[in-house]
Amino acid sequence: MTFSPEIITLDLNFQNCKNAIASYLIPYQDGIILIESGPGSTQMQLQKNLNTLGYDLQEITHVLLTHIHLDHAGAAGWLSGHGAHIFVHERGTPHLLDPSRLIASATRIYQDQMNILWGDFLPVPKGQLTSLTDGDEISIGSYNFRALDTPGHANHHMAYLLDDICFSGDIGGVRINELGPRHLRVPMPPPEFHTLKWRKSIERLKNERISKIALTHFGFYDDVDWHLDAILQELDAAEEWMNKTIPLDLPANELREVFVQWARDRSIALGVNEITLDSFENANPSSMSADGIKRYWEKYINTDSH
Ligand SMILES: [Zn+2]
Repeated sequence: MTFSPEIITLDLNFQNCKNAIASYLIPYQDGIILIESGPGSTQMQLQKNLNTLGYDLQEITHVLLTHIHLDHAGAAGWLSGHGAHIFVHERGTPHLLDPSRLIASATRIYQDQMNILWGDFLPVPKGQLTSLTDGDEISIGSYNFRALDTPGHANHHMAYLLDDICFSGDIGGVRINELGPRHLRVPMPPPEFHTLKWRKSIERLKNERISKIALTHFGFYDDVDWHLDAILQELDAAEEWMNKTIPLDLPANELREVFVQWARDRSIALGVNEITLDSFENANPSSMSADGIKRYWEKYINTDSH
């Protein structure tokens, strides 16, 4: 018997942008499994997508989160309020039980845009939350998911394997399936971006039998070898940029501008069009990666100055 799960990509239409944030829906005999809840701000869109497909919110029994960043996990508490059980890396558990610290630090970054961008981030009740460690298996109906601890983007990141399909969260990078050349970027936000850990996570994925990667940002890709190598190349390029630029000690704003321009120039040199570039920036603002690279430099590379 061939194993071919029905997987439906839901476009959460984040900030009215297509192909920015996905949630994956997998129907099974007793209901629906979701990979990623999406942010609180797209709850209504999620509900709309479900209704269009003939499903109700209450049919969602399991939600597997790759990590707790707002764009991946913000609606998990809301979904638990409708009966879903949530699965997350054990390091993410305290923040789902009590998101107040997470919300406070995000509010410092997003300020008055916080609610518009991300909406509510409600807590998940303890009885509806399962903490995962590396290698944990989650059996739902006839499906068996395996959680792979994959740090580099965040220390609380899981990729999920379902047979030969990998739901790679953000460790699998960002890729927008528009017309044009193959192009991938890596989202490198503070405070846990770490190139060595990221490379190890990619090596780990390379050792698994994966024939399809499903990205939260955005969609399915089956050129797995190219994809995983492209992540390593992007990390190389980011490190090269870091070693050249961070020592210049630019003010934070200027550093962001320089990085955004650098990322843009690289994409344009590859022939990526403006519309696709906008989608990339929407799914993964480059300015955030500039902050993440700076933080990584200060924490791990140039430790003498601290
Ligand atoms: Zn993330």
